[in-house]
Amino acid sequence: MNTESATCGVCGRSVPLDQDHVTVDAETVRVRDRDEVDDYVLHTRCADSVFEGWRCPA
Ligand SMILES: [Zn+2]
Repeated sequence: MNTESATCGVCGRSVPLDQDHVTVDAETVRVRDRDEVDDYVLHTRCADSVFEGWRCPA
């Protein structure tokens, strides 16, 4: 049986889904059109490097 995996949105390598990983739903909220959701899977280390310095909205 194959281990399920996805492609990391940052480095492009395989992310085994039975190990620690980060999922991201990037929702584009449009005022005059339908919202759009992009799903991403990231290694935790890739997510750390991408999200470093980001601020919470509130
Ligand atoms: Zn990665």
